[in-house]
Amino acid sequence: MNYHNNGRIWLSSPHMGGDELSFIHDAFTNNFVAPVGENVDGFEADIAKFTGAGNVSVLTSGTAAIHLGLILLDVQPGDVVICQSFTFSATANPITYLGAEPVFVDSEEDTWNMCPDALEEAVRDQLSKGKRIKAILPVHLYGMPANMERIMDVSHRYCIPVLEDTAEAMGAHILGKQCGTFGHLGVLSFNGNKIITTSGGGALISDDEDMIRKSRYLATQARDPAPHYQHTEIGYNYRMSNIVAGIGRGQMRVIEDRIRQRRANYDFYRGLLGSVDGITFQPEPDGFFSNRWLTTILIDPEVTGFTREHLRLSLAAENIESRPVWKPMHQQPVYKSARYYGNGISCKLFEQGLCLPSGSNLSGRDRERIADCITETVFEPVSI
Ligand SMILES: *Cc1c(COP(=O)(O)O)cnc(C)c1O
Repeated sequence: MNYHNNGRIWLSSPHMGGDELSFIHDAFTNNFVAPVGENVDGFEADIAKFTGAGNVSVLTSGTAAIHLGLILLDVQPGDVVICQSFTFSATANPITYLGAEPVFVDSEEDTWNMCPDALEEAVRDQLSKGKRIKAILPVHLYGMPANMERIMDVSHRYCIPVLEDTAEAMGAHILGKQCGTFGHLGVLSFNGNKIITTSGGGALISDDEDMIRKSRYLATQARDPAPHYQHTEIGYNYRMSNIVAGIGRGQMRVIEDRIRQRRANYDFYRGLLGSVDGITFQPEPDGFFSNRWLTTILIDPEVTGFTREHLRLSLAAENIESRPVWKPMHQQPVYKSARYYGNGISCKLFEQGLCLPSGSNLSGRDRERIADCITETVFEPVSI
């Protein structure tokens, strides 16, 4: 088939709602072109209302939020932070910024996120070696909630706080309780590819008012209350700009639509591939609600006769972007000496997993192009 417009179909691209520019305009009118102002306060209030978290501070990125979150949990050089292995490097890197030691744990089949059994094994073994474990860092990958009931159970029994990486999962919940509000602190990201975006940005959310107040102080260079510049702690320049926060306020007006649209993409792929032997989707356990940020599938080549790479390259040839799932941290060269507690699941996910185009702005024509290419590749394999 010929298309007039064979433009690139992206994995996940920004999708503005329409009101963003008017919030930016207000910031210009009031000359609050600074990391302070009505949009910063308004965006924080919107996020608190949406997530149900008591307190929110908006920051320059999700990575900055993880960094500050770990500082608030008193992570010091030599401490251990137990981190989900199957994730993006931004989850783990701030552990290293602090001179602490990341210890990676594998995933479970049910959610693809942190395996509570591997977590408990890691906690016991690290404690038996005399390590100070300062935080547990689970991730809600691709918008799917991690098994928070069991992770929080480990957290409570061993008195180790939890920082939830909710960068990909804003709006996901378990029985109505939003991801990011189970642990002591939650992290959101508004990077360009996330379910809502401010071009770049992040947030820390928590019911602990003192921690969020302290995060704002650390994010603005840790200035003591004095007419001159006085500091008793090391600070950072991590506060979100009032311009960027204006984009966020506009995006908050459409977040429910964006979640509906992402979940509709999942239904579309499910209709296309749900009955193919050897192709499976990221599971959504009972009571769990994923925002389906990215629809991800596993292709078992022994059953399908083709690999994940084969489908990825077929899509690429049609100018359609898809991506292998995250490569686990314990398999990354940069973390090759890190301790890892495994069960092989994240390795299998990486070998077989593919993220399909999942933007909330996919058009009907985009879907047709995707469906044609997938149908040709999956149902009419050319024999070689
Ligand atoms: C995007 C992402 C981050 C980092 O967020 P930034 O805002 O890009 O710094 C962290 N963790 C995960 C799982 C992510 O997908």
